[in-house]
Amino acid sequence: MSVAGEFTALYGARPEGLWAAPGRVNLIGEYTDFNEGLVLPLALPHTTVAAASRRTDGVLRLHSADADGGVVTLSVEGLAPGSVEGWAAYPAGVAWALRETGHPVTGADVHLASTVPAGAGLSSSAALEVVTALALDDLFSLGLSRPELAVAAQRAENAFVGVPCGVMDQMVSACAADAHALFLDTRDLSYRQVPFDLAAMGLRLLVVDTRVRHALGDGAYAERRAGCEAGARALGVCALREVSAAQLSDSLARLTDETVRRYVRHVVTDNDRVERTVALLDAGDVRAVGPVLGEGHRSLRDDLRVSCPELDLAVEAAEAAGALGARMTGGGFGGSAVVLVEEAAAEPVAAAVVGAFAEAGYRTPRVFPAVPATGARRL
Ligand code: ADP
Ligand code: MG
Repeated sequence: MSVAGEFTALYGARPEGLWAAPGRVNLIGEYTDFNEGLVLPLALPHTTVAAASRRTDGVLRLHSADADGGVVTLSVEGLAPGSVEGWAAYPAGVAWALRETGHPVTGADVHLASTVPAGAGLSSSAALEVVTALALDDLFSLGLSRPELAVAAQRAENAFVGVPCGVMDQMVSACAADAHALFLDTRDLSYRQVPFDLAAMGLRLLVVDTRVRHALGDGAYAERRAGCEAGARALGVCALREVSAAQLSDSLARLTDETVRRYVRHVVTDNDRVERTVALLDAGDVRAVGPVLGEGHRSLRDDLRVSCPELDLAVEAAEAAGALGARMTGGGFGGSAVVLVEEAAAEPVAAAVVGAFAEAGYRTPRVFPAVPATGARRL
């Protein structure tokens, strides 16, 4: 059945509209978005679709085809951080965040269906939040800009769900353009669409979803974040973004803590890798991005230490099989890697990665091409 048909079957009337928001992969710029740094993600063709109708009686009804349990019924007035358990906290948090900033969201019926794999590091959470934000913005004629919707979505995840994520995922889901990557400056949310038409260049970007997620991840994220903040304080800057690649060796010499020094080196060099990647893409030299991805992976593995054996194997096997470059993407400790390959090498490289996983006794990874797609939209 169609998403609209499912909505009608659930709620007894046709939806006022349908909206979609994509998941993403990050090409480069990892763990930089909470340091006011630079990122270069792209939206995937995989989307979360919301069918929704307005309500004026303060009732918010939420249903997802991809979650167990039935319709979750909430009162918008009663929404408060910690008040909603499970998946419904993401869309409920968006309604809360919009109401908190004075927007008259008086209830809604919402049904969701997604093709973004959840928990694979492809940001199904941001897709869910952003599609909810866009639907509510449209239904209640709020007139919010894309960055404003992204910020409301991030606020929902940070303050309502309780996940301390940066703003990259929500921004790319809200703002991406077809056949482009989004060059985003997380200091002021300024952004530019950078041409990334892989098909036209005879290239592919493969996503390798390792289908593992190590429990370590959540605590490690908070620890890296705290370490970066300690580094910024020690260097007398408000965020590590302020440290340029040219200042790196002097800055490292001023840091006494070995762990903080590694974190600072990662953030500063990854910001620089984003700038180098953007320059290469602007120049049409997409193949030269490959080695930059490899550098980024080694920095995440050795300096930030957020990789894992499965991600390292995906990268090594892809590189050994002739990929132009590869790196883990997203928060690490499982999730996905991205691999830049010549179109003709895509099949053999994917087969090599799958073979290496089998040999190591790992779960079979899911490999698919990331086609840079458009951001959130009304259907
Ligand atoms: P990622 O964003 O990398 O996919 P997260 O842990 O941040 O992983 O978000 C996954 C969570 O988001 C799921 O456990 C679920 O609670 C929620 N979620 C995402 N998409 C959906 C969906 N379509 N329906 C219901 N819940 C979803
Ligand atoms: Mg997420």
